[in-house]
Amino acid sequence: MKSFRQELWFETASRRDFINITPEVEQCLKKSGIKEGLCLVNAMHITASVFINDDESGLHHDFEVWLEKLAPHAPTSQYHHNGYEDNADGHLKRQIMGREVIVAITEGKLDFGPWEQIFYGEFDGRRKKRVLVKIVGE
Ligand code: ZN
Repeated sequence: MKSFRQELWFETASRRDFINITPEVEQCLKKSGIKEGLCLVNAMHITASVFINDDESGLHHDFEVWLEKLAPHAPTSQYHHNGYEDNADGHLKRQIMGREVIVAITEGKLDFGPWEQIFYGEFDGRRKKRVLVKIVGE
């Protein structure tokens, strides 16, 4: 069995952002040389997500509105977590959007369903953060 590991780094200009990281994950898969196996992609920070959905700007706007309704950023004083930090909403938003995805690898390709793309979801940005890509198989 072969195993491949790579970190992808991001620093978003705004507090929240969604980035399509499918091309970077495909690059990792190419480098790994693995043709059959599994690809794990996970956020390495507790205020960021990795998830699979459609690359459609209307949907991303809907996510933003929905998440802000569920866990509004302000007033920051509403959260017990916000003592020295102001990112309690980021922890909650990440929990809803998920930590990781696993994609099957078939014949050297990410075996997606229709319209599936991998996204990095940032909920407390403006600093360097990482995503782990781990690929196992043969
Ligand atoms: Zn925090």
